[in-house]
Amino acid sequence: MKKSISELLRNGPVIGDGGYLIELERRGYVDSGSGREQVGTGRGSGQFTPEVAIENPDALRELHREFLLAGSQVLQALTFFGTREKLGRAGYGSQVEEINFAAVRLAKEVAGDRALVAGSVSRTQLVERAGMDALPTARDHIAEQIRLLKEAGVDFLILETFFHLAEMKVALEAAAESGLPTIATMSFRPLITQCSDGHPPAECARVMADMGAIAVGANCEQDPARMMPLLREMRAAVDLPLAAQPAAFRTTDECHSFTRLREFPDNLEAIQIPRDAFTEFGRNAKNEGIGYAGGCCGCNAAYIRSLARAAQA
Ligand SMILES: [Zn+2]
Repeated sequence: MKKSISELLRNGPVIGDGGYLIELERRGYVDSGSGREQVGTGRGSGQFTPEVAIENPDALRELHREFLLAGSQVLQALTFFGTREKLGRAGYGSQVEEINFAAVRLAKEVAGDRALVAGSVSRTQLVERAGMDALPTARDHIAEQIRLLKEAGVDFLILETFFHLAEMKVALEAAAESGLPTIATMSFRPLITQCSDGHPPAECARVMADMGAIAVGANCEQDPARMMPLLREMRAAVDLPLAAQPAAFRTTDECHSFTRLREFPDNLEAIQIPRDAFTEFGRNAKNEGIGYAGGCCGCNAAYIRSLARAAQA
């Protein structure tokens, strides 16, 4: 019998996995969209969607295996950007069920009894495109995906890469209706001082905790060292375990988000950080009460291995 995520968090840090879409883009299985459009504006059509789950399942299975071997205790099903809204703009609107079910099935197959499987739920991009008036529609799309993930049998949810706290709140409402344990992490750009609708990290943490998340924190956009100050603000604001899944890309003092740097998405190798940054992150996680530590974009299995060794030393 596998331990639940709540049980694992009591003896953290729980070791998460890394980023799937960027790694699979490098391997040739995911479309960044950069051949057609300006990526990173949030207005694109097809970039970084998870149809690899049905088009090249062996590639996704292999990456799950690599993370498991590296020490991941949780595999995230590749359901990021898997709402009907985002998949529809990429031309996969009629395969929403198929893609979400396939992604969960693959993760569960690799995880077996050795890891938990989380359903990944991200922002819709509707708020970036259409503003706050789109929130009710975003909520419907997120709620639909969460129902699919529950039906597919995920152990818990990770709500991640939300730039607006308002959209995170509707996602947390939908997650609460599902009854699934939920980890919630915001993303901060262009600076770590506030999210896109103006709330500082501590306030984001309190709101996510009050709405029922079992761990709260941040993911993506910054490398671990750049993310630590915002995590410390969150640490001081809530009593829950923190969750952190930083990116493995270097940012600048003027811009704390790699998706706003000119290297995104076609020249990311130029800002890749070394894996010992994740060794230090592992030490920090253990010493500073980060209960769930993994990686996001740019973080492959080598980084997770370094993180796991340091966090469990
Ligand atoms: Zn990311």
